[in-house]
Amino acid sequence: MADSTGFLKFDRQSPPRRPVDIRIMDWKDVYLDRESGEDAVFPVAAVREQAARCMDCGIPFCHHGCPLGNLIPEWNDLARRDDWREAIERLHATNNFPEFTGKLCPAPCEGACVLNLQESPVTIKQIEFEIIDQAFANGWVTPQPPQELTGKRVAVVGSGPAGLAAAQQLTRAGHEVTVYERADRIGGLLRYGIPEFKMEKRYVDRRLDQMRAEGTRFVAGVEVGGSGADDLTVAELRSGFDAVVLAGGATVGRDLDVPGRELAGIHLAMEFLPYDNLQALGELDEPPINAAGKRVVIIGGGDTGADCLGTSHRQGAASVAQLEIMPTPPDRRGERNPWPTYPLIMRVSSAHEEGGDRLYSINTERFLDDGAGNVRALLVHDVEMVDGRFQKVEGTDRELPADLVLLAMGFTGAQRTGLVDSLGVEVDGRGNVVRDSEFMSTVPGVFVAGDVGRGQSLIVWAISEGRAAAGAVDNWLTGDSALPRPVTPTAVPLR
Ligand SMILES: Cc1cc2nc3c(=O)[nH]c(=O)nc-3n(C[C@H](O)[C@H](O)[C@H](O)COP(=O)(O)OP(=O)(O)OC[C@H]3O[C@@H](n4cnc5c(N)ncnc54)[C@H](O)[C@@H]3O)c2cc1C
Ligand code: SF4
Repeated sequence: MADSTGFLKFDRQSPPRRPVDIRIMDWKDVYLDRESGEDAVFPVAAVREQAARCMDCGIPFCHHGCPLGNLIPEWNDLARRDDWREAIERLHATNNFPEFTGKLCPAPCEGACVLNLQESPVTIKQIEFEIIDQAFANGWVTPQPPQELTGKRVAVVGSGPAGLAAAQQLTRAGHEVTVYERADRIGGLLRYGIPEFKMEKRYVDRRLDQMRAEGTRFVAGVEVGGSGADDLTVAELRSGFDAVVLAGGATVGRDLDVPGRELAGIHLAMEFLPYDNLQALGELDEPPINAAGKRVVIIGGGDTGADCLGTSHRQGAASVAQLEIMPTPPDRRGERNPWPTYPLIMRVSSAHEEGGDRLYSINTERFLDDGAGNVRALLVHDVEMVDGRFQKVEGTDRELPADLVLLAMGFTGAQRTGLVDSLGVEVDGRGNVVRDSEFMSTVPGVFVAGDVGRGQSLIVWAISEGRAAAGAVDNWLTGDSALPRPVTPTAVPLR
């Protein structure tokens, strides 16, 4: 039974971040942690007080906010009572990787928390992270190998959170699972998109150790459907496995088709970010795209843009500006964005705390040449919304100097060339691989999970889809399945 008055006794408190001037000197997590020996991080007693703020309201709207259906009030109460062991059992029952969501989820559950009616929700995400952190620290996260093997072989293509969740579920159900990844290391965007300062890669490695011990096989550096000597052909894929899960992500970056785009110094965000993860681990001294000493302009005001911002500061950029075509978000929910939907408000991420200018309602008309084929500036103007369309505000043309421009405007779907085209699976008008209500593509035995089917989304959705698709695969292979299916392919966030 929850403490029904905890929220009256304790105010919402979040863990402190490391001081800006210190953290931008390194690549480490912006938050302190116990493993680094930094005790005072956020004392366990403080997390328990925060958990006590959950009143276990009759209808837990937070459940509906979380695509995984995490049993939030249950583990909040267990955390309050200091029963971390039982708490991780409840949390792992719905989430394979709480350390990823506990670090990186934008927490739609908190938007839906009843206490958010007073803009002071329970710190659900922080409690989630504490539970899994305690579990690893106490050795409670152990391999869960299957009791029996089915003799069925499954290939998972792509090792992001969707592929990993599907692989773990299917391995535990007794199938022989091989995960293929074309990058040199396993993890998808967890490895080569999300910077070290948001989540250190040791969290990914630690989870992969558990998965290997359970029996999942990982093959990195192999593109399925690719044409390299080491790659796996589609014929080999189909003959070698009883079922396939496509979990290759939405990797095609949205480009900006304006004059001057061909100039040197203009890159998609995902051409830039993977290097920072190597640099952060000390494996690369001089990244080929480097913000050091440069005036950086990032086009795109979202999370990927914020990751470029934090990375540019750590590389030693002279200045950074982040442009967004949309107007400045409000400080509080608007009338058309009521509780319990996700609050569309101004957010200040850790990267924004570290500096740089955020410019809204601004459009890039062209890139300007320095005379030697390099970008020297952007020609921009203000825009306003008229009848639902952006319109230029005349007389606002100006130049914004730049030596490095990063395009962080989202993704337009799955890569078609190679695997998708060779398999012959249908792709919809938004560039996503089509699947039916059983997560199956238009090719029998080929299933689809994560961004490759949903389009650019979030880690929490990728894990939910991986879990749900695993249930569908297991059912297809054996005629029955006890695996949970938290979402359908057409499920959408609370609206
Ligand atoms: C820079 C950035 C930061 C982000 N930050 C956050 C965040 O903080 N919080 C959050 O919730 N979400 C965040 N997201 C979104 C989140 O990372 C994605 O929604 C999620 O990773 C999708 O998971 P996935 O498993 O579907 O695909 P991915 O993580 O994209 O993994 C797909 C993998 O498949 C591999 N692959 C593709 N085709 C093949 C092939 N033919 N053969 C072998 N391998 C193949 C790719 O190399 C890739 O590694 C971020 C996205 C980006 C780009
Ligand atoms: S996974 Fe995300 S939405 Fe679900 S409980 Fe955790 S922070 Fe909230």
